[in-house]
Order: sequence, then structure tokens, then C-alpha cells
Amino acid sequence: MDFALSQEQQMMQSLAEDISSDYPLDYWRQKDDAEEFPHEFWDELADAGFTGLTVPEEYGGEGLGMTEIVATGLALGRNGGGVSGPNLLTLGPVFGGISLNEHANEEQKQRWLPEIADGAIVSLGLTEPDAGLDTAGIKTTAEEDGDEYVLNGTKIWTTGAHVSDYIVTLARTSPMEDGSRHSGISLFVVPSDADGITVNKIDKLSMRCLGSCEVVFDGVRVSEENLLGEEDKGFYHLLGTLNTERIIWAAIPLSAGELALDLAVDYAKEREAFERPIGKNQGVQFPLAESKMELETAKLMIYKAASLYDKGEDCSMEANAAKFMGARAGFNACDQAIQTHGGMGFADEYHVERLYRDVRLARVAPVSDELVKSFVGTEVLNLPRSY
Ligand SMILES: Cc1cc2nc3c(=O)[nH]c(=O)nc-3n(C[C@H](O)[C@H](O)[C@H](O)COP(=O)(O)OP(=O)(O)OC[C@H]3O[C@@H](n4cnc5c(N)ncnc54)[C@H](O)[C@@H]3O)c2cc1C
Repeated sequence: MDFALSQEQQMMQSLAEDISSDYPLDYWRQKDDAEEFPHEFWDELADAGFTGLTVPEEYGGEGLGMTEIVATGLALGRNGGGVSGPNLLTLGPVFGGISLNEHANEEQKQRWLPEIADGAIVSLGLTEPDAGLDTAGIKTTAEEDGDEYVLNGTKIWTTGAHVSDYIVTLARTSPMEDGSRHSGISLFVVPSDADGITVNKIDKLSMRCLGSCEVVFDGVRVSEENLLGEEDKGFYHLLGTLNTERIIWAAIPLSAGELALDLAVDYAKEREAFERPIGKNQGVQFPLAESKMELETAKLMIYKAASLYDKGEDCSMEANAAKFMGARAGFNACDQAIQTHGGMGFADEYHVERLYRDVRLARVAPVSDELVKSFVGTEVLNLPRSY
């Protein structure tokens, strides 16, 4: 197994690093404080072709895959963006590029993919007040009316909905039936400014520059041409996209952990206590060394999952394992960065408090630690299901 990046992939990673260097840690702190979407950064990513990473070349994109998304995400996070920077890649290349590549018909591809390559923002509307991890429990409905569907219901936590152009939305098109909880759900591309949509930003702990929103659909009409893939099969269509979301959500906390580790190492070299740099103490040094090893190990699983996806092979186990290990390694690194900074770990100006708040999300979303273990326990180890 060779996960070494090709020359082209390395050049892309350098370009992502160059862009990031114009957006230092203070930029992200200000955006977080002001709860402002990083439009300037997004526009620069779009101009450099990153929003079109997964869009095929014939539709104006780069025609690349998850390996490149991971390589780019790691560069964006480690070089200043922390969690929020690489998470932008979900709002176009993953929710847009990958879902449409996989499920859209030719007409839909021609209609939306060039826009996505140019930087259209695409949110994912899956979670609802009564259904998050249990996707089959969604209550939003889409009823057929002539050649239109009428959507009613409420989504929560839809990240970027307040600035997005489209929301890829899951809705029930047929009632839930015994034994087939996951059928009867369909996927729609809904323009975010459609009549009947109300978007309310949610006050939240972290990743504040990328707002997450409640989205209310009240009689929202979309054409049948906005149905993605087959009616009633949306849940199954989404499974592939969810694996790619897990892979990028493994790289996101990992890259934030790498950034936090860099900050902690610098601080451990500079800060003196008891007349010597704190980093000279093995009590400070060893946990940082452990973090480095955890991060590097998790990175291997992330690239493995990405490479399997790109080859069209089943990557469910690897995507879940990568998500779990990336979140754990990233969280431990940010936690240790706070410990290394002592009291200063709590001061905004040292940035590690923001990374710590942001990285916590990865243990809950888009899939929680518990549900990953449950997947591996039941689907990989064939143990009996607990639910
Ligand atoms: C900042 C933020 C951004 C988000 N962005 C988006 C987005 O853009 N689009 C979107 O659709 N969603 C988004 N989400 C939603 C996110 O994906 C869900 O919150 C996440 O999947 C968890 O679902 P839940 O909140 O319904 O938790 P619940 O399902 O209510 O679970 C609560 C807890 O119980 C545990 N649990 C539940 N069932 C079991 C079980 N059977 N066994 C063991 N433990 C169990 C879970 O692991 C979890 O710890 C976002 C959430 C946040 C906080």
C-alpha cells in the first residue's frame, strides 16, 4: 500500500498552503468572534479550483477524488483554518460535487455542476429535531403535486444554510413501513431562496464562523427535476455520500489537531517555568510525542479510506474507522495543547481554546463515536444489533 502523494497532488497541497498563509490564525479568530462566514477565503478557494475538485472536467471542475479532498483539507486545517477551513470543502465538493456526480442525471449535472465548480455553496439538510443519527426517523415530507413536490418540515443544524445556494434535502416521499424504515426517503436539490423557506441561525459552542441553522420548509415547491436519483431510494443514495463525509470529517479534526500540536510545541519551547523551557519536562514532552504518533497513525487510515473510495471499492469500515481515529487523535492533540499552554490555553489570543471547542464536534457529528463503534460491532464483527 502506497499512500504517497503524486507530484500533482503535492502541488495542489502547496497551493492550499499558500492560500492559507494569507489567512492567519487571527483571521479565523475574528471570523469566529463575529460569527461571519469566511467569504473571502471561500472565493479564493473557488478561484483556485478547489470548489470544483470533485466536479468532472467536462462540467468545469478538476475531476479529482477523495484523496485530493483529504490532502487539501489537511493543508487548509493545519495552516490556520483549524476545523472551519477544511469544513468548507463539505459545502461544495462533498455535498454538491460528490452527491451530484453519483446520483444526478445528465441534465441535472449540466445544470448544477458548473455552478458548484464556480463556487456555489451547498448545504446538507439531513438532521431534524427528532432525527439525527437515526436518519430514518425524519419527518419532513415531500408530496407529489403534478410535476412538482411540496416540502414541509423542519431541519436543524444545517451548516451554511444562511449563505448557501442549495440545500441537498432528505424528505419522506412514502410513509415508513414495517421492515423498511429506510425506504420511502428521497433526496432533493432545493434552492435555498425558494419561497416558503425560513432560515434561523442557532447559537452554538463552536465552528461559529460557519453558521448552523434551523431550516423550516413551509409548503416549499420544487420541480420533479430537482429529485436526485430514484424516488424513495434517497437513503441508499446518501450512504455513499455519508462515507465521503466521514472521510473528510476524519481529516478535519486531524488537521486541527496538527495545528494545535504545532502551537503547543512552539509554546513548550518558549515558555519557561522553574528556569527551563517547559518542553524539557517529559511530563510535557511525552503527551505531545504521543499526539504526534496518534495523528500520523490516524492519517494512514484516512488516506486508506479515501483511496478505496477513489478506486470504487467498499470503504465503509475504513471511513468509519478513519472518522473515529481522526476525531480522537485531533481531540487529544487539542486537549493536550490546552494543557501545555496552562492558563494561557484559555486565552483567545493563543487560539488553542478555539481549536479545542471546534474539534469537540467531531466526536458527535456527522456520526458519533458511539454509532461508529456500533457500526463496527454489528456490521464488521457481526455482533448482535443493540437497536
Ligand atoms: C455544529 C453542528 C453542525 C452540524 N451540521 C450539520 C449539517 O450540516 N447537516 C446535517 O444534516 N446535520 C448537521 N449536524 C447534525 C449532526 O450530524 C447530528 O447532531 C449528529 O449526527 C448527532 O445526531 P443527534 O444530535 O440527533 O444525536 P442523537 O441521535 O440524539 O444522539 C444523542 C447521543 O446518544 C447517542 N446514541 C444515540 N443512539 C445510540 C445508540 N443506539 N447506541 C449508542 N449511543 C447512541 C449518540 O451517540 C449521542 O451521543 C450538525 C451538528 C452540529 C452540532
